[in-house]
Amino acid sequence: MYPQKEANKQYKAYTTRNIHKIEHFNKLPEDVLTAIRVVSKVLPFRVSNYVVDELINWHNIPEDPIFQLVFPQKGMLAEDDYNKIETLMAEESDNKALDAVVKDIRNRMNPHPAGQMEMNVPVLNGKRYPGMQHKYGETVLFFPSQGQSCHSYCTYCFRWAQFIADEDIKFASKDIDELIEYLEAHPEVTDVLITGGDPLIMGSKVIRRYVEPLLKKKPGNLSTIRFGTKVLSFWPYRFFSDRDSSDLMNLFEEIVESGLNLAIMSHFSHYRELETEAVKHALGLLSKTGAVVRCQAPLIKHINNDAEVWAKMWKKQVENAAVPYYMFIERDTGPKEYFSVSLADAYKIFTDAYKNVSGLARTVRGPSMSASPGKVLISGVSELFGEKVFVLKFIQARDPEWVNKVFYAKYDENACWLDDLKPAFGEKEFFFEKRLNQIKNGL
Ligand SMILES: *Cc1c(COP(=O)(O)O)cnc(C)c1O
Repeated sequence: MYPQKEANKQYKAYTTRNIHKIEHFNKLPEDVLTAIRVVSKVLPFRVSNYVVDELINWHNIPEDPIFQLVFPQKGMLAEDDYNKIETLMAEESDNKALDAVVKDIRNRMNPHPAGQMEMNVPVLNGKRYPGMQHKYGETVLFFPSQGQSCHSYCTYCFRWAQFIADEDIKFASKDIDELIEYLEAHPEVTDVLITGGDPLIMGSKVIRRYVEPLLKKKPGNLSTIRFGTKVLSFWPYRFFSDRDSSDLMNLFEEIVESGLNLAIMSHFSHYRELETEAVKHALGLLSKTGAVVRCQAPLIKHINNDAEVWAKMWKKQVENAAVPYYMFIERDTGPKEYFSVSLADAYKIFTDAYKNVSGLARTVRGPSMSASPGKVLISGVSELFGEKVFVLKFIQARDPEWVNKVFYAKYDENACWLDDLKPAFGEKEFFFEKRLNQIKNGL
């Protein structure tokens, strides 16, 4: 049982509408303020009072990594696009002109990377399930419609398109019966990942409506419920001082008692997110429920492109009974030019961090690209037959036959994504390309 703590902190969110209420905000330099107003026309912006009050170092703006994590930055838009919007805003042009420019910029930002719309939405007996994704055999992603926002938005979020009011590019479902139907028909699925947005933004009663039928029916071969969340970074009070915190923790306990494994897939970008009293308290409570917290984040310029930051983060995770899980490469979507780190640098940063932590933190895998064919690990940089190469390996794949298979790409110090790479040794294409094309064409 989890006694409700006195509500010592009330959640508050800031968007462009009430941003002037942030005390530090009005003291920021004019160009920083303008950038926030301009860029947030295109990309989502929201920040919680916890991030503002307890995480950001307001004496180090704009370099502070947590400031970069949530506040829009000028470099996130191409210069031309930025100027266009700034001009239209200054002219107080009609909304139509501005909307058209904004829409055009968004469409050029690859809103649905890695074939998510075309290839991941499952179909069963001719029926599409648009609130779900099923890419890898064992795990189905479920997007509850009330969980499609977050306590704060990460500037680099690859799901940014979910958070802008453009209905035709959203995933969402209200229908847990559809998920159950799908799981019954797919015995290979062991894991359901409830994700978003952030599903833990939902009230405990709503979460119960989705989870209780899973506990009762145990459809198919379901053995694990995962929640994909950044609530430990953006609102750790969720677990002990919200009105329904104790009900949420009780639900977590019920999941574990039902015999299912409960994994809280937590997005931590920087060790500072693991340092407050609130987050440490929340992590302690979570492990008492029997949930396992696993941690993942992308490697992002301006925020965490530093081996020491990662080593320190993984150590703090282990100290708090959380398990380092994935380091990702930033996806090829949204404001990627501002945030992306080359594959060569990523490999170096990962290695330098990995060298300096205990084996208990070496549960982490990476750097990994969640690309169209699968999760591709940069396993090494090597020289073979006189050619410098990236050694790559699938750790997840659209075709399970590819998993754990090693392959080689020509070394390219500027490459930032799988699409930038060419096969090594003069090969015309990577071994998986033919089959991937077949899959794309529904064969
Ligand atoms: C990463 C990912 C998963 C989960 O993969 P694990 O390696 O089991 O954590 C599932 N579906 C998609 C689309 C993913 O990108």
